[in-house]
Parts: sequence; C-alpha cells; structure tokens
Amino acid sequence: MNKEHQGIGMTSQRARNRLVEQLQQMGVESELVLDVIKTTPRHIFVDEALASRAYDNTALPIGHNQTISQPYIVARMTEALLADGVPENVLEIGTGCGYQTMVLSRLVKQVYTIERIEALLFKARERFNDLRTRNISARHGDGNLGWQAKAPFDGIVVSAAPIGVPEKLLEQLAVNGRLIIPVGKSGGQELRLIKRTEMAYEEKILDTVSFVPMLEGVG
Ligand code: SAH
Repeated sequence: MNKEHQGIGMTSQRARNRLVEQLQQMGVESELVLDVIKTTPRHIFVDEALASRAYDNTALPIGHNQTISQPYIVARMTEALLADGVPENVLEIGTGCGYQTMVLSRLVKQVYTIERIEALLFKARERFNDLRTRNISARHGDGNLGWQAKAPFDGIVVSAAPIGVPEKLLEQLAVNGRLIIPVGKSGGQELRLIKRTEMAYEEKILDTVSFVPMLEGVG
C-alpha cells in the first residue's frame, strides 16, 4: 500500500471511530455491531465524490434515486436483529450499495440479499468481491416475494418501506425468527420488529423512520 492510501486509511479510521462514538451517544449498545461499523469501510460503498462524507451519520445518494441508509439506522436494525442471539441465515431486501449487506455478512453465517435495480446489484457484487466476502448471495428480483428456495430465515431485514408487511416475508420467517421492517408511506413510517412464535407473530414498534419506498416488480 502506498503512503497516500495509508493516509486515507488512517483518516477514515479516525472518522469511523468518531462515527461509532456518535452511535453510542445515540443509544447503540451492542459491542458486536459497533465493532463491525468501526471496521467496515463505508467510503467504498459511495461514489468517490462523496467519500469524504462517508462517515457522517447521514444517508447519501447512490444514484437511481436511491440512498445508502444512515449509519444509525443500519446499527439500530442490526442491533434489533441480534437482540436474541446471532441468527445463522439472514435475508435482506434492498441491497442498494451493499453496505448493510456487508455489515450483516460480518456478523452472521450467510446473507441473502435481493435488489430490484440491476445496475445497483452489479456494483454491490463488485464491492463484495473486492472485499473478499464469501458469505453473501445477491440476486436481482422483487423482494416482496422473498427468496423461497433459501427459506426459512432466522432473520429478515428490509431496507425499503412497503405500505404493508409483505405476506411472503412473514411466511419465510423461521419460528423464533425476527423481521425488521419499515412500514408506511414516506413521511410517516414506523420501524417494526416482528417475532414469529410457534403460534403467532408478535409486533413491536422500534422507531419513526424515513426510507425510500419498497416498489413492486423489478427495475
Ligand atoms: N441496504 C442499503 C439501502 C438501500 S436503499 C444500504 O445499506 O444503504 C433501498 C433499496 O431497496 C434501493 O436500492 C431500492 O432499489 C431497493 N428496493 C426497493 N423496492 C424493492 C423491492 N421490491 N425488491 C428489492 N429491492 C427493492
């Protein structure tokens, strides 16, 4: 690695540490999650022109009218997913740039992720390869349908907001599994945690959030 790159690496490590401090102040407690955010290079997941803002605690544009989620939201959702122990296999809907996918891949055994915009999916796959990640399966499709062939999932994380919880995602959740999903129209979404028990689905509202809408079909 040349000097210039090392310099960038050090700067971003400092910026990452600062980001983690902010997340702690905002109430994120899981050491597992904080550690992964500290060591995951978010700048690789945004355009070079935005790299200097990659460790700000904000959402940023990633093209195609989509955004990379705010780090606080990624941390919050991941923490909620891990609250009963680390799940083995997780389905993510809305790969986008792949940052949340990468965070998950460092915590669980296998991540499945679905994106409806092919160009975003291709770029995300490149990043997973560049970072030598081997436990992510990414596919082009409509996340409303889930990924039947790989179900059931111990955890499902949805990064775009549908108007109602898609039936297929409830079906593909394992018993004792957890689904984290923003629900509602833009402006008034709530982040829900849905736990499947033997007999029922238990629901809890975690936060008020602002996600891009979950659309039908592929882009
Ligand atoms: N997980 C990303 C967030 C991406 S934004 C991150 O780490 O920052 C949400 C993504 O969901 C967008 O890329 C959008 O194209 C995608 N999306 C919206 N509706 C979808 C659907 N029905 N199926 C799959 N992906 C969808």
